[in-house]
Amino acid sequence: RPRVFSGMQPTGSSLHLGNYLGALRQWAAMQDEYDTFYCVVDLHAITAGHDPDALRERSRVTAAQYIAGGIDPERSTLFVQSHVPEHAQLAWILGCITGFGEASRMTQFKDRAGREGTEGTTVGLFTYPILQAADILLYDTDMVPVGEDQRQHVELTRNLGGRFNARFGETFVLPKPYIPEETAKILDLQDPGAKMSKSMGGSGLIDLLDDPKVVEKRIKSAVTDSGREIVVDPENKPGVTNLVIILSAVTGRAVAQIEHDFEGRGYGDLKKEVASAVLDTVVPFQKRVRELLDDPAELDALLARGASKARDVAAPTLRRAYERVGFLVPA
Ligand code: ATP
Ligand code: MG
Repeated sequence: RPRVFSGMQPTGSSLHLGNYLGALRQWAAMQDEYDTFYCVVDLHAITAGHDPDALRERSRVTAAQYIAGGIDPERSTLFVQSHVPEHAQLAWILGCITGFGEASRMTQFKDRAGREGTEGTTVGLFTYPILQAADILLYDTDMVPVGEDQRQHVELTRNLGGRFNARFGETFVLPKPYIPEETAKILDLQDPGAKMSKSMGGSGLIDLLDDPKVVEKRIKSAVTDSGREIVVDPENKPGVTNLVIILSAVTGRAVAQIEHDFEGRGYGDLKKEVASAVLDTVVPFQKRVRELLDDPAELDALLARGASKARDVAAPTLRRAYERVGFLVPA
């Protein structure tokens, strides 16, 4: 079976609706057809300042959310990045074949550095796409299900893997991004010019673990657009389009059907329906997360099993890379 790898950071808010619709749901759906590896990428979560206790807690919560979102630890390899030291080890090698200019062109870093100034950012944040390339290449990954914002990083991964292969001999499988079009970029409800994002936070974000009342309120106060028609028009009506796409994604109703159903009705009606449909997803999800967090020992044991399965794949890949690059293999 073709191999799939993906991960999310245990940072900021817990997972949000964009993470769920853009990534997690796809991950769950891929388990039947693919050999799936899903990682809580905690090494990535310390790139921008963090609190150690909160990180520990967040890592467990993120793993619980993967499971509540449909990841089956028996069918998928579910693990925490820092449990598998090969990630950091391979990242070093890849960093040594990455151009400084090449890394500087990563738009996500440029955006962050632009917002916070280069003094406010870290070298870790700058090299994070290289660590991400290591995450993916270690598992001979064929496909990486991600949101649109990660397209450039998967492209970098392909470039680095291809460069390594050309320079040192065939070592890595080159992965392709898998980006389902409709839900590739769920927008911030207050600022439909930007994607919903953990690090940005704010009241335009639907945290999957938010109190249902807060979820409802945030959807009902979503920014909509001028005019009254409920149609999908990303250029002129980004706010309304975002709500229709969310409704379509959580109910499985086609976008055209929703447009038809809302002919002659107003934004208020739309928001009401979106809120109730999102809650239908969120409420059982939260219940499952709470159950899982009630037994942290069981969760930790499950993550330890996942890490051991992951290392069985990652260790031979790293060994291959070490040999090719010319490191003396210990006797
Ligand atoms: P941060 O702001 O800290 O980068 P994030 O919200 O972008 O957080 P990540 O952990 O970086 O979340 O991303 C996890 C996955 O969710 C990735 O596959 C990413 O492409 C996807 N994703 C993130 N935001 C969205 C969104 N608004 N719509 C669709 N997919 C998204
Ligand atoms: Mg991100």
